[in-house]
Amino acid sequence: MERSYIEEAFKKKGKVLLKGWVHEVRDLSKIRFIILRDITGQIQLVGVKSETGEKAFELMKSLNRESVISVIGEVKDSKQAPGGKEVLIEKIELIAKAEHPLPIDVSDFSKTELPKRLDYRFLDLHRKQTQAIFKVQSTIQQAYMEFMINEGAVMAQFPSIIGSSSEGGTDLFNVQYFEKKACLSQSCQLYKQMLACSMEKVFAIFTVWRAEKHNTVRHLNESRQFDYEQAFADDKVVMEVLGRCVHYIVKRVMELNKKELELLEVKLKIPTTKYITFAQVSEIMKKYKIHVGKDDLSGEAEEKLGELYPDTIVFVHDWPLSGKPFYIMPKGKDLSYGFDAIYKGMEISSGGQRIHLPDLLIERLKAKGLDPKQFKAYVDSFRYGAPMHAGWGVGLERITMLILGLKNIREAVLFPRDRDRVSP
Ligand code: ATP
Ligand code: MG
Repeated sequence: MERSYIEEAFKKKGKVLLKGWVHEVRDLSKIRFIILRDITGQIQLVGVKSETGEKAFELMKSLNRESVISVIGEVKDSKQAPGGKEVLIEKIELIAKAEHPLPIDVSDFSKTELPKRLDYRFLDLHRKQTQAIFKVQSTIQQAYMEFMINEGAVMAQFPSIIGSSSEGGTDLFNVQYFEKKACLSQSCQLYKQMLACSMEKVFAIFTVWRAEKHNTVRHLNESRQFDYEQAFADDKVVMEVLGRCVHYIVKRVMELNKKELELLEVKLKIPTTKYITFAQVSEIMKKYKIHVGKDDLSGEAEEKLGELYPDTIVFVHDWPLSGKPFYIMPKGKDLSYGFDAIYKGMEISSGGQRIHLPDLLIERLKAKGLDPKQFKAYVDSFRYGAPMHAGWGVGLERITMLILGLKNIREAVLFPRDRDRVSP
């Protein structure tokens, strides 16, 4: 007999073979109930002492929560059963026993705190709520790829071990690479630029490592980024692409994850876009007495933007040059073609037009106190026919967190790497 998923069983008549996890057991002595769960849903199983065989009926009693079973039984209409159907058990088999007690509470209203849940993430993933987050995250990645492929962009893979810092700064994890010192990539910035200068439109889902000693609810030390880079483009062009991309991602989640959004009690709206300069944001924040740095937005200012422009991707452009990395194209003496995108009160992306002119790049490296010699290969890559180009990067866990309104970014990564955690 072929296995049916629970979702299918609800539409079937007659006998079915189901496999899944014991979600709940209720024993009324002459009649026993199991709520069986698989990836598609839950269904009630019933054993009646007089009808179900002695052996099967006894086994029902001994089952612990989260044990894995297979069941053959008859699908019946039932007014009392959740969803209006139940399965009258004929045969039941224990596939994998769950030891008891379970180390964490995996019930729907689990009170186990996040760090403990992360210690037992494999078991936490038995919870529908946890699964829902990662089903949505799967859609977010799918939608990003769909969108990019429709844009005519090429999907790229870049090295994760690099010879020297890609962006300057010291927040790197060092690795011993045979006789040499190397480090884990903090971004694929320089590689995607080099690629855009020949392949025009490129994208990647790229893992990055940052050895920043922060311990916040919005940062991880290992995270994944959606990267995009386009030739013959300035900041305006790629902001428009990013706006449509986030719009498409949210639309796909609303289409494909109705069940998950309902379970997580998330109400989504397709976002609109708003363009505003850094100077304008500073002016607005003055009114609310909210501190804005001379070249960066505070968390409080990001939050306020989320409040003032709900369900909007707010592009803050004309960013002060001093607040952007060396490779961002200057706009006059003090401003740049760099931008940040704020969504639901937090930065989801940074981007901008890049410098494709070797002399200017060297000048900017020096201005940032970096040694142009260290970046020679990168600078030289723009000497042999490199057009202007622009791009951005969006954090996968960050956008998942914001779309689902999660309080801590660790909820949005299967196995987080943070200041205190390198396992599981
Ligand atoms: P933030 O200001 O939030 O610290 P950033 O400006 O340092 O971020 P960028 O280098 O601009 O980050 O990275 C691009 C995007 O990657 C960010 O907009 C964010 O969505 C995501 N991101 C950056 N750092 C982290 C991190 N430590 N953990 C998770 N996501 C991150
Ligand atoms: Mg940034």
